Amino acid sequence: MGDQKKVIECPCGVVLEGQNDDAVVAAAQAHAAQVHDMDLTREQALEMARPA
Ligand SMILES: [Zn+2]
Repeated sequence: MGDQKKVIECPCGVVLEGQNDDAVVAAAQAHAAQVHDMDLTREQALEMARPA
């Protein structure tokens, strides 16, 4: 775990990708903050993450 490419599909339809957990979490947190003015926790982001 951790070195697998992951994707998170936001409920708004945007798909965030990362080369590992940290990268996809960071992408999702940045998207949530910028687009939805929302704080996304690492746990919430990882729950939404799927192997790419
Ligand atoms: Zn979104």
